[in-house]
Amino acid sequence: MHPFSFTKVSDTREALDAARDGGRYIAGGTTLVDLMRETVERPETLVDISGLPLGEVTVTRRGGLRIGALVRMAEAAAHPKVRSLYPVISQALELSASAQLRNMATIGGNIMQRTRCTYFRDVSADCNKREPGSGCAALHGVNRTHAILGTSDDCVATHPSDAAVAFAALEAQVHLLGPDGGRQVPFAGFLLKPGSTPNREQALRRGELITAVEIPALPRPLRSGYLKVRDRQSYEFALASAAVALHIRGGVIRDAYVAAGGVGTVPWKLPAVEAALVGERPSDRLWAEAADRAANGARPLQHNRFKVELLKRTVERQLRTVGDST
Ligand code: SF4
Repeated sequence: MHPFSFTKVSDTREALDAARDGGRYIAGGTTLVDLMRETVERPETLVDISGLPLGEVTVTRRGGLRIGALVRMAEAAAHPKVRSLYPVISQALELSASAQLRNMATIGGNIMQRTRCTYFRDVSADCNKREPGSGCAALHGVNRTHAILGTSDDCVATHPSDAAVAFAALEAQVHLLGPDGGRQVPFAGFLLKPGSTPNREQALRRGELITAVEIPALPRPLRSGYLKVRDRQSYEFALASAAVALHIRGGVIRDAYVAAGGVGTVPWKLPAVEAALVGERPSDRLWAEAADRAANGARPLQHNRFKVELLKRTVERQLRTVGDST
């Protein structure tokens, strides 16, 4: 591990000052410390923000939900308001990582976590994300778990977060605080597709701090849920996943919110699937027809062609689970 300085801060102004010259924020540390041990990340300054007052879950005036950046994954998953208003978030969190990690890791850290591409974590491999311009060992290597959507010729790594898939589906906003004040960024624009700069992963300005994720007040009643398909039943990343929320009134789907995980370089919103659902009555035929659009634009690699069909089936199954529930 490379030497670094460590500063613990107690308010946001102090945090912004401490990170002004390129310091990295750390809270639960469940990703960053691993990467530092492997010398994938070599920050010179760590700013410990775990003491900041960003650990609340609150219902907004409009009836949405604001989840503080320092709320632990386990706390968010178990929170009565998260469970009752947006079960898709609770389920996504509970299907993530291990109980120990969920007790440490925060919501802010969860959406900031970096890819599990094995070449990214192997400092002897070519990786444009870790070392811009060095190449991508996954393109012609073992790429079974890699992305089929949102890829580029420079990077095909998936985003690993489950919660981020639920946030993308629900059209959340990310609250940021920086040296120039606060701002909100739609979740869809916060995590960046790799393009020609896979090393740039979030739409963060220098020194900006995530303070919260806000879920808008969506039409009610809203049924929602998360399905994760993986190689083993626990402590594993998704091969494909689906976050689904449906507003059904009078037997007709009025609004649909659908996103997929495990298949995209970012959590993958599925507007074509949503459009196929809205205005229709739930039926097995509808679920199949809508899900058939889930892989539109997919570019599979040598070892992950199976993800095209797996994605469609995962979305279909979760549409049926949520849509047929009472
Ligand atoms: Fe690196 Fe992305 Fe290629 Fe993986 S897929 S080796 S993270 S550039």
